[in-house]
Amino acid sequence: MNKPADIRHHTVPLWIGGKPVAPVGRMGDVYNPATGQVAKKVVFSDAKMVDAAVKAAAAAFPAWRDTPPLRRARIMQKFLALLQSSQKELAQLVTEEHGKTLPDAMGSVQRGIEVVEFACGIPHLLKGEFSENVGTAVDTHTLRQPVGVCAGITPFNFPVMVPLWMFPVAIACGNTFVLKPSEKVPSASIRMAELFHEAGLPAGVLNVVHGDKEAVDAILNHPGVHAVSFVGSTPIAKYIYETCAKTGKRVQALGGAKNHAVVLPDADLEFTADALIGAAYGSAGERCMAISAVVAVGAAGDPLVKLLEKKAQSIKIGPGDQDGMDMGPLITAQHRDKVAGYVAQGLKEGAKLVLDGRARALPEEGFFLGTTLFDHVKPDMKIYQDEIFGPVLVVLRKNSLEEAIALVNSNPYANGTAIFTESGGAARRFENEIQVGMVGVNVPIPVPVAFYSFGGWKNSLFGDLHVHGVEGVKFYTRTKVITRRWPHQDTPAPGFNMPTLG
Ligand code: NAD
Repeated sequence: MNKPADIRHHTVPLWIGGKPVAPVGRMGDVYNPATGQVAKKVVFSDAKMVDAAVKAAAAAFPAWRDTPPLRRARIMQKFLALLQSSQKELAQLVTEEHGKTLPDAMGSVQRGIEVVEFACGIPHLLKGEFSENVGTAVDTHTLRQPVGVCAGITPFNFPVMVPLWMFPVAIACGNTFVLKPSEKVPSASIRMAELFHEAGLPAGVLNVVHGDKEAVDAILNHPGVHAVSFVGSTPIAKYIYETCAKTGKRVQALGGAKNHAVVLPDADLEFTADALIGAAYGSAGERCMAISAVVAVGAAGDPLVKLLEKKAQSIKIGPGDQDGMDMGPLITAQHRDKVAGYVAQGLKEGAKLVLDGRARALPEEGFFLGTTLFDHVKPDMKIYQDEIFGPVLVVLRKNSLEEAIALVNSNPYANGTAIFTESGGAARRFENEIQVGMVGVNVPIPVPVAFYSFGGWKNSLFGDLHVHGVEGVKFYTRTKVITRRWPHQDTPAPGFNMPTLG
């Protein structure tokens, strides 16, 4: 069996039918973004490889579906223990391939592990409903059954956490799974498949393929796949949603974001600035819940921008595995250049460049970029309209809470948002009127804990159900309603008329 050492130093294998499968075919590079060097190779799976993974999942489905939920939960508990003891190793893989700092990677792995803790409670979560005597001697109950073979397609920015949003819940519900992680960060998924196997997961219940559009299309068009969970950018999320609708698959497709923090004049500005700095520049801004736009209301504006400038300047930027770093590199050279292009664009558009990340002295190797802060940004500027997904924070000025809410609500993205204030009344109004899926009050990154569900509104999510929590269980199960009668001597004879409750 492949040991982690193989994941670290060679071509990353696939995982099909409970074992590593040597990759053959078109290959891509996996970088260490902190050095800028190619660290590994990854295969871009074709339809044949995807078919092998789907067939393995389909073969494993009948027995796994019929495995009592309590037994499934026991395997999940062993997986949980193995994840906990491997947390650092997984976080190191994240830092090596994504670039974020090790403490940040540890935190993201922890948030993923919490979804597995949630999935351990699956026997309780799968309980149905029962009504006695819906008619004379007639009872009704519901069953919550798995959907079949499910697939997950995940982005580069959370190589452990986002896959863990999906496959543990799907598998706990009795489904089997094909995971296609981002080709930029493929190793952690293989390590998790190994750990799950070690925990006693039967062969074929979890499979991992790598690749790009070709592999994704093979999943979307495969008749053996019944449900698809996607997390990534908005254009691809929309494409996944539309293609799954055409091919008759259940789908949840989470997209990109532009997350606003509204800061009222009564907020504790020191506390707020600290919160915003971490939320904007943590993970180099490559978080779907990163705060990328600050809406400063009235008198909050000038002092807030001063504090943000001072704090953004002092952020320590360097390799994520070095102690004391706040921020690592971006994922690729192309992405770093694209983000730097937005800084140039903002200047051209007339925004006030308070801090220029391009000017900062940085390690020469690797895909580093400094922190950028723009003030007096207008809603028609590209730096406001686009998801930049890098260490660029834009500040817009508004005169009232009402104007700030109107701005946030007019943005096509609606993943997360936060308000900073000391006023309960203002916070309550914000909670009530804001059209965004996840809302923080003095909490900059309001990612729900695992037993609640994660998901945005509008262009940040295509589909109806969010991930993990109760909505995750709903997504990975179908309900069946049973109406039954066991006739005995007093039971009235069935008639011709429409049955009613009477
Ligand atoms: P991406 O959309 O480029 O890629 C996501 C996945 O889709 C990858 O597995 C990739 O291989 C695949 N893919 C890429 N291009 C494709 C195509 N043309 N056809 C089919 N599949 C394709 O996203 P990314 O760059 O990996 O991740 C960053 C994006 O993900 C950001 O927009 C971020 O906001 C978003 N994101 C959203 C959430 C959320 O919960 N809403 C969470 C994390 C990341």
